Amino acid sequence: MARFIFVTGGVVSSLGKGLSSASLGYLLKSQGYKVRIRKMDPYLNVDPGTMSPFQHGEVFVTDDGAETDLDLGHYERFTNISAKKSDNITTGKIYSDIISKERRGDYLGKTVQVIPHVTERIKQFIKKDIKNEDFVICEIGGTVGDIESLPFLEAIRQFSNDIGKEKTLFVHLTLVPFLKSSDEIKTKPTQHSVKELRSIGIQPDIIICRSQQSIPLDQRKKISLFCNIPIERVIETVDVKTIYEAPISFFNEGLDKQVLKFFKIKPKKKINLSPWKNVTKIVTDKNLKVINIAIVGKYVDLKDAYKSLDEALVHGGIKNNVKIKIIRIESDKLRISEIRKKLIDASGILIPGGFGKRGTEGKIACINYARKNNIPFLGICFGMQMAVIEFARNVLKIKKAGSSELDNKCFSVVGLIEEWSKNGKIVKGTSTKLGGTMRLGLYKAKLQHNSKIKDIYKSKIIHERHRHRYEVNIKMKKKFEKKGMLFSGLSPDNNLPEIIELRNHPWFIGVQFHPEFKSRPLDPHPLFSSFIGAAKKNNEKPNN
Ligand code: GLN
Repeated sequence: MARFIFVTGGVVSSLGKGLSSASLGYLLKSQGYKVRIRKMDPYLNVDPGTMSPFQHGEVFVTDDGAETDLDLGHYERFTNISAKKSDNITTGKIYSDIISKERRGDYLGKTVQVIPHVTERIKQFIKKDIKNEDFVICEIGGTVGDIESLPFLEAIRQFSNDIGKEKTLFVHLTLVPFLKSSDEIKTKPTQHSVKELRSIGIQPDIIICRSQQSIPLDQRKKISLFCNIPIERVIETVDVKTIYEAPISFFNEGLDKQVLKFFKIKPKKKINLSPWKNVTKIVTDKNLKVINIAIVGKYVDLKDAYKSLDEALVHGGIKNNVKIKIIRIESDKLRISEIRKKLIDASGILIPGGFGKRGTEGKIACINYARKNNIPFLGICFGMQMAVIEFARNVLKIKKAGSSELDNKCFSVVGLIEEWSKNGKIVKGTSTKLGGTMRLGLYKAKLQHNSKIKDIYKSKIIHERHRHRYEVNIKMKKKFEKKGMLFSGLSPDNNLPEIIELRNHPWFIGVQFHPEFKSRPLDPHPLFSSFIGAAKKNNEKPNN
């Protein structure tokens, strides 16, 4: 039977619970164990799909088409285990299930309550869809003490009693601040946080202490004493230079060792951390050449809004031995007259996914600049749709070319499609309800012979993750191809353009899917590797 590890956070948010869970997942997996990582989010949205990236950061999409919290992206990037729909739950989803059951009369007249009904539903989620996993790591969003996370904490307390203490381990991540004025490391916030946790019946088994500097033995002893845990289970995590160092640092601190010891098991195989060491070495190398990549989008102010994308670019940099500097350009505020000035230092231009009209003309103008000046260009999802519109307007001379998402009076080279086929079956979307109604998750595409994209993927068939409602109009294929924009990747039924590329351009590719979700630091995505390779080449051009 699986062992369950619950990861909670205390003192403040954003301490890196996701990264800690992901690193632990990696360490256990690479010692021969089968691991699953899941996230429980205390907010009332049913999923993050309809939440603004400004509020919540990127929406991460799984193979099976769930719109999830961006922490699932960390889990995947570190462990290379594909997350599933069943790996993310929110309070909203739990309540919506319970309320539908109540409306159907399934509770047979009983009063429906947080305990036991909500907690039971949470416990079902924790166990759901687990087969032969050795470890299930469950991260609980929020901070201990928040009202919203209480039902989750109560549920994991009960869960531990239900399946046995020897099968569950509680990890608590806290902040151990350093006070400059008194030149001291303070353990009191950790003590308080653990006290809070114990007041709801949870005694942590391992405490991970996030700190700016190494925690001296005396302070560790204090934490051990006041928090009632053996000293070797006080694990410190000192700020690392790059997140890729996290698995190495947790290994050196013995996090995995303590976990295995707790469960009274031994590693099944010896761990090899050299891939992470290599990656860390490249990323922290001060002598690496810097390549500037411009991301022109609407959500550039919040870094996490394009989390997977930023990561995938770094991965492409790792593959090409260069450092990536991202220049973020807010498309909404961009004046057409400034484009050259803003983009002059960019060796590559990327337009990411997006929704709605705001900022689109700025994006189209940047695409025009990339196309005319032979600057490597990657358009992702909305970015590909904008590239098609730019080409239609300026090369095919269809002045009113546009997308019906943005303007219902335009000549729609990009339009709404409400049905598409998946594995021979028709899947329906809808435009009237927003949540979960897009073309979501993994879809197959065929790549055209003699195309740049086929050389990049080195394969005829690819599978990539989608998240969109609109599609490029396939009826335009011939017209575009005649003028040099190839529809070089298509859905298996030939109805949906999946990839476009320009024939007479060093590197100009648009993809209807999101390749960034499948890029890994230890296995950079070929599209990003190739894009950064092209940007590097562009940067080395004599006139630069
Ligand atoms: N808004 C566009 C659509 O729905 C693109 C979505 C995206 O970029 N993810 O088709």
